[in-house]
Amino acid sequence: MNRYLMTPGPVPVSTGVSVSQARPLINHRCGAFSELFLSIEDKLAQLLRSGGRTVLFPASGTGSLEALAANFTGPDVTVLSVSCGVFGDRFREITALYGAKIVSVDVPMGCGVTPEAVASAVERNPDCSVLLLTQNETSTGVLNPIDRIIAAIPREKRPLILVDSVSAVGAMPCFPEEWGIDGLATASQKGLLTPPGLGLIWLSERGWDAVSKRKCPSYYFDLARQKKQLYMDAPENPYTPPVSLYYALDAALDEILVDGWFDLRRRAASSLAAGIESLGFSLLVKDENFRSPGLTAFSLPSGDIAAVSKALKAAGIEPAGGQGALKGKIIRMSHYHDVRWPEISLALGSLYAALGSGRAQSRDFMRDALAAWEGK
Ligand SMILES: *Cc1c(COP(=O)(O)O)cnc(C)c1O
Repeated sequence: MNRYLMTPGPVPVSTGVSVSQARPLINHRCGAFSELFLSIEDKLAQLLRSGGRTVLFPASGTGSLEALAANFTGPDVTVLSVSCGVFGDRFREITALYGAKIVSVDVPMGCGVTPEAVASAVERNPDCSVLLLTQNETSTGVLNPIDRIIAAIPREKRPLILVDSVSAVGAMPCFPEEWGIDGLATASQKGLLTPPGLGLIWLSERGWDAVSKRKCPSYYFDLARQKKQLYMDAPENPYTPPVSLYYALDAALDEILVDGWFDLRRRAASSLAAGIESLGFSLLVKDENFRSPGLTAFSLPSGDIAAVSKALKAAGIEPAGGQGALKGKIIRMSHYHDVRWPEISLALGSLYAALGSGRAQSRDFMRDALAAWEGK
């Protein structure tokens, strides 16, 4: 039986990306490796629209968050932590572990973070020198408008802005330099369409400057150590890199850097949302301005969502469930990868079947989804 992976990380990778990893290993201290490294850097520079280089190291997304926490925070730092879900809470928890004092702003799960809420929290807390934000909150499917949030904070009052974009980069616009982000964390296995295992960190000039003035308590995650080799003409990693994953990321970036990619992801999200609502499910994110182009979360007010999830899995569709307070209450389906009409109709047809015959609210769910896919 075919199995269709629809979890919001890892996401299915293409055959081209899978096969790229089967190439013979090369020494990570040689010209060929530096060429591969530079090829990835060029593509990431296009994707992030930045001339700066990105640190790559073996870690999952949590490791990238920890690297930011270790380099930017500590017992001498007060952090303003804005969370609207499980991953916002995790970033806060990691930072607290490094000894930072935390001022928390919590937004209910399913709701987005508004520019006004953050600007007023910054105004009220001038002692906070670091601000933590989540771009795409994967536990709920909320996309926060990082560009507008940062723009709402007067430039002279801006703390260092650290953003968890683990599930955003690749699937939706994320332009840290243009937006004013100082430290961006991401990972390979979501919007970047690569197997799990690579962490990525991008810093602004202000970010590199701040990091250079602090002593990092972690040896492995010390970004200043990474910077020396990152900016050589022939860049290297200070420690052994997962070379096969570099091949995979290099190949995956070619699939992402095509015209209209972000628009396709947005259309897939709208189409799936339209079909899901018409089937009788309830979208967790009510305000469509905050809906993620990468994943969709929904519940079933009139029935048993766990039974739907079980039926989907039995039919070969693998979505994810809820996390934290939403455990057992929602289904999350991802569309970071190349989901188009065939995949959308497969997902909706399978949901229709999983609901049980006659339980769908409307039989027009395909028509509604297709209209949204076609932008009507
Ligand atoms: C997946 C994810 C993480 C954690 O990533 P791991 O790779 O599981 O360590 C952190 N933040 C967000 C927003 C995520 O989606």
